[in-house]
Amino acid sequence: MRSELYIDGKWRPSSDGRTFDVVNPATEEVIHRIAAATAEDVDLAVKAARRAFDRDGWPKLSGAQRAKYLRAIAEGIRARQAEIARLEVIDNGKPFPEADWDVADAAGCFDFYAGLAEQLDNNPEEPIALPDARFTSKAVKEPIGVVGAIIPWNYPLLMAAWKVAPALAAGCTVVLKPAEVTSLTALELAAIADDVGLPAGVLNVVTGAGSVAGQAIIDHRQVDKLAFTGSGPVGSKIMAAAARDIKRISLELGGKSPFVVFDDADIDEAVEWIMFGIFWNQGQVCSATSRVLVQEGNYDRLLSRLVEETKKIRIGNGLEDGVLLGPLVSKRQHQQVVAAIEAAKAAGATVACGGKRPEGFETGYYLEPTVLTDVPLESDAWREEIFGPVVSIRTFSTEEEAIELANDSRFGLAAAVMSRDDRRAERVAAAFRAGIVWINCSQPTFTEAPWGGYKESGIGRELGRWGLDNYLETKQITRFATGEKWGWYIK
Ligand code: NAD
Repeated sequence: MRSELYIDGKWRPSSDGRTFDVVNPATEEVIHRIAAATAEDVDLAVKAARRAFDRDGWPKLSGAQRAKYLRAIAEGIRARQAEIARLEVIDNGKPFPEADWDVADAAGCFDFYAGLAEQLDNNPEEPIALPDARFTSKAVKEPIGVVGAIIPWNYPLLMAAWKVAPALAAGCTVVLKPAEVTSLTALELAAIADDVGLPAGVLNVVTGAGSVAGQAIIDHRQVDKLAFTGSGPVGSKIMAAAARDIKRISLELGGKSPFVVFDDADIDEAVEWIMFGIFWNQGQVCSATSRVLVQEGNYDRLLSRLVEETKKIRIGNGLEDGVLLGPLVSKRQHQQVVAAIEAAKAAGATVACGGKRPEGFETGYYLEPTVLTDVPLESDAWREEIFGPVVSIRTFSTEEEAIELANDSRFGLAAAVMSRDDRRAERVAAAFRAGIVWINCSQPTFTEAPWGGYKESGIGRELGRWGLDNYLETKQITRFATGEKWGWYIK
């Protein structure tokens, strides 16, 4: 396990020698210590990224040349897949098969953006038709510059890949700050980049507190763009900091996403996707479908099947075979989710199952998967993100009511609908005010498709070609034909 900052192609301790603890959420043991970056360290990292961008020529390489590095990073991740997945489990708590999936996905993300980097070479200029024949114009895409990438703890390596891969493909250089509770795999990513010979300064990783290292990144004058995934309140701070010097921003924030299940849906299929929509990754998923709306005719049977299956979920240390629900990521997160359940009960909600620490798990940040009913529409449990394995479920009668309830939220990250009537499903999908819509499923995410939210769930889109655009500026180059006269002042 790495423990130092990766700045300008070198490993170094923090400037004041401070470290912070890495805690395994399944055992509550301190398993490692990592350097806590200071503002001075961040300054070194930004300056290294600046040099790599302005002087050392990373953006001047062809897309094909950058793609070679990205493919080598993908290979490097795959070569150590099981080992990195294990690190993710002891750092984040998620079950091993999920971590294994994430690591494979992260490698795939580097491959995907390698392909798009190559396409930048094939299609660099877009001619623009103009009404005046004396002029010709074209639009070219250029990298934005130095990117400050700040990521959360729920998908540590994957969130790093979602930002680093398109940024490097575009020709940007990066200072990456992982969340303080899950820094291990971001440091491994730096080690892999180092192994494949990525030029110094192109990727820098600074670990440490959001209030110190994160703040220093967002305040730094030489950072051109902030790419952030995390909570709404920190997203607001980032937007405010970016306003001072008009930094580019992309924000992927929280959600309270609805899942609408019509009477014609198969009950078992609906239960399967409802569970996948909220218990995968212990419900610590920004797009989790945490508000389930079930049409009246199906409700009783669906609720009893949901409770029956939820009680069967095997809880345990993510390294054990067959475990489907690990601990929450941290003591703080556990306390917050338990407090949210208590607040829901105080507001009148009924706990249909779960709601407490599972028996036999005195150590570790474990929580039973929880189904809440009778959740008042105005309560926080219905409106605010809980970010844990807690689903609220209620009925609706008509399609119009379902759409109204689904859209009645300040968030708009994701939404799901299940119906065997394709036309109805498409109608509801079109009516959702959300950036990601699933029909007859919830959560499957593909690197090729755009990802991001409406309303308070964020700005900009990651993944797919939209993810590359996040790191590109558009320049118009307009030429006045040689030999022509303009003739305004000088006739
Ligand atoms: P968080 O906002 O507390 O932290 C995210 C990152 O921001 C961390 O690296 C943290 O150190 C850093 N940070 C904190 N304060 C900062 C500051 N003042 N300046 C700069 N950086 C700062 O969020 P979290 O608790 O790590 O993650 C959970 C939240 O993230 C949830 O609300 C969830 O919905 C959201 N999330 C969204 C997506 C998405 O794609 N939309 C994905 C994952 C998580």
